[in-house]
Amino acid sequence: MTTPSHASSANKAFVLGYGLDCLTMAEALEKTTNLYAQGQAVQVVTLNPEMIMKGEETPAFGTILKQADVALPDGAGAVWALKRQGYAQQSRLPGIEFSEGLVRWCAENAKPIALLGASPEVMAKTVETLQAKFPSLQIGFSHHGFFDSPEALEAVSQQLIATQPALVLVALGVPKQEYWIAEHKPQFTAPVICVGVGGSFDVWSGTLQRAPQWMRGLNLEWLWRFSLQPWRIQRSVKPILTFLWRVVFNQ
Ligand code: UDP
Repeated sequence: MTTPSHASSANKAFVLGYGLDCLTMAEALEKTTNLYAQGQAVQVVTLNPEMIMKGEETPAFGTILKQADVALPDGAGAVWALKRQGYAQQSRLPGIEFSEGLVRWCAENAKPIALLGASPEVMAKTVETLQAKFPSLQIGFSHHGFFDSPEALEAVSQQLIATQPALVLVALGVPKQEYWIAEHKPQFTAPVICVGVGGSFDVWSGTLQRAPQWMRGLNLEWLWRFSLQPWRIQRSVKPILTFLWRVVFNQ
């Protein structure tokens, strides 16, 4: 496996120093699978303002985000910041849709995948749902994301790595999933694509509903998420406002 060179700078824009790939969904999938085909271990991050502010607060996390091989503008705030820079056509690239695109690619190309994270019930249902949707998909490994100790997580992580998946979807929440990928990516002995997917398994399992299409079209998925999970509001307001302020005043 070759050492990842940070992907070409074409179509890369920077928001507060964080690189974002200004691509269509199809182009983002192509870029990612091309990096995989070149023999790399690929880390994908799906950026929103809260993550960027967390990166500013915690430099080790910020470095992971900045060094990611693919960085998708997932949050409405990230797209808003890109539009201010002249990327008028940029759409949101929701991590959940991107991840499903990669799952489809794996099913079509006989590449095994691994799933890590979410509750045991959600994981069981996610496996069932993906297998029903993509009958040829090889799910070589799946495990929920709740552990009694770091050692228990590490033991499961080593089992996952041993299955040599082409795609690893990690749902441990931000920033745990990004740290997990950054730490374990060098341990894979074959090319691999790793994506931190947040609540995607909750959606795929039918436990959490995505915003209706009209809300997604207006980039209002965040509002839907706040209405379903109001505890997020308190956690998110300060970083979002700080992000907006810093982008507007170029701080
Ligand atoms: N999760 C997990 N282990 C943990 C913490 C969280 O598996 O120790 C899962 C949780 O069940 C959920 C996902 O990680 O499926 C995080 O989803 P969320 O939408 O909260 O992501 P965030 O907004 O934190 O990225």
